[in-house]
Amino acid sequence: MAEQLGTICVQGGYRPGDGEPRQLPIYQNTTWKYDTGEHMARLFDLEEEGYFYSRLANPTCDAVARKICELEGGAAAILTGSGMAANFLAIFNIAEAGDHVVACSTIYGGTFNLLSHTMKRMGLDCTFVDPNCSDEELDAAFRPNTKLVFGESIANPALVVLDIDRFAKAAHAHGVPLVMDNTFPTPILCNPFKWGCDILTHSTTKYMDGHAAALGGCIVDSGNFDWMAHADKFPGLCAPDESYHGIVYAEHFGQAGAYINKAACQLMRDLGTVQSPNNAFLTNLGLESLHARMPLHASNALKIAEHLAAHPKVAWVSHPSLPGDANYELAQKYMPNGSCGVVSFGPKGGREAAEAFMANLKVAQIATHVADAKTCVLHPASTTHRQMTDEELIACGISADQVRLSCGIEDVRDLIADIDQALEQI
Ligand SMILES: *Cc1c(COP(=O)(O)O)cnc(C)c1O
Repeated sequence: MAEQLGTICVQGGYRPGDGEPRQLPIYQNTTWKYDTGEHMARLFDLEEEGYFYSRLANPTCDAVARKICELEGGAAAILTGSGMAANFLAIFNIAEAGDHVVACSTIYGGTFNLLSHTMKRMGLDCTFVDPNCSDEELDAAFRPNTKLVFGESIANPALVVLDIDRFAKAAHAHGVPLVMDNTFPTPILCNPFKWGCDILTHSTTKYMDGHAAALGGCIVDSGNFDWMAHADKFPGLCAPDESYHGIVYAEHFGQAGAYINKAACQLMRDLGTVQSPNNAFLTNLGLESLHARMPLHASNALKIAEHLAAHPKVAWVSHPSLPGDANYELAQKYMPNGSCGVVSFGPKGGREAAEAFMANLKVAQIATHVADAKTCVLHPASTTHRQMTDEELIACGISADQVRLSCGIEDVRDLIADIDQALEQI
């Protein structure tokens, strides 16, 4: 196995043998053919490794999951149809009706909604904590039925950096894992497993694909959490699964394989939120240059943030790697080589100025997306959050003048010239 991230990006997950295709083949098939029924029965009994149905496993998807697993330094991984599917499966794999989750209040809106509404309807309670809360407040959020702590390495769009070490220690003190969404920095810029995080999720839709071409998600298990040491809390992993002829995942697959194999054998089987092999192929093309793109996204964003901070028509700027930013110290600790390509700022003149700025842009494109090669821009108050009043916006950390700029990998001189001419006209 290669050591350096750049080599894993290009060659990880799939290494062709003699005379085999250099590019990862797309296994565009639902099923596999066997010579005997006994062979297939052994596969169903998990006695032998092999493929039989693409809802459960597909070689193209497995190769891409292996690459992401190698990048994160994990033990096992699985692809999902989207980032939301990854977050849902990652939580539901160890927390269900009657259980409780502690989550950061700044997490991605979709995940916030999943925990506060959809999973609540499934009987799961969630307590949201400010990522900058005191140790006492964090401790007080736990209950006897808490099964995990959920956070984001860099919150989208709040750009708050999680104190991973502190949250991991709090989770472990209560006998539960820290699950984190590492979409924004990617493993190129941040390695949460090194700081005690146990399980990671990704929306591969963002930087990993990197070209706004394919939706996808991924879950990676570090293999570090000792489920058997907390067997009473995690019966789904440590007691027989009646839906899979009594298998005990933590015994059959061991500590390193239990969590991901349960997600595959049980949740993917029943919920079917698979990634298509075609999307996995596109995600893999993106991954081949992730190590080359991320530093450029991050340095373009920092240069733009510095330029905006010095601009007379700009009221405020937020970017975790910008000296003086509220998240600067944490960003330096957990992602010293750059954080991500996203910058938030407010032009002087409030909501109207923000709308005028956007309309004046010529290079940056108006889109609901973030984190791909092309620079794009969003005004949350008039689009994704337009049902809210200005007061409601402030309560969820968004101001009416806020522009979210996702810096792409174009030449930064053109991006800055575009921003300048758009600001000039307001
Ligand atoms: C976009 C995003 C998601 C959701 O991912 P989809 O692929 O759109 O389902 C989850 N978490 C974060 C941090 C995101 O940016």
